[in-house]
Amino acid sequence: MAIKTPLTKRETDELRERLLAERTDLRAQFQELEESSFSSNQTDLTGEMGFDEEYADAGTATFEREKDLSLVNNLRDLMDRIDKALAKMDDGSYGLCDRCGKPIEKLRLKALPYANLCLKDKQAEERVR
Ligand SMILES: [Zn+2]
Repeated sequence: MAIKTPLTKRETDELRERLLAERTDLRAQFQELEESSFSSNQTDLTGEMGFDEEYADAGTATFEREKDLSLVNNLRDLMDRIDKALAKMDDGSYGLCDRCGKPIEKLRLKALPYANLCLKDKQAEERVR
């Protein structure tokens, strides 16, 4: 017997709106970031500096690029989680924990509509890391 989502249809619809808005927002950030990291890669590739300076500068550029990359990955990850949450809304399993299958706390869903684990399992996961 499947456990039903802990939310009413009205609550689900409300969260769906929020997820859709959030996804639009993330997509805009994502595009902006892709454009800016593309253009910054085009500059500062030449220049006559001493070895130390050049070395330090290359390190900074790498750091900036990695920061951008992890931001991009974060955004991608979030968009992915939002898509999954939206898909679950469609098949009626939204709001259930991916790990134990029990309903996720309602307050948690309202704070984090794309949450896919109940609080207990989320905390357990964070302890493992
Ligand atoms: Zn759980």
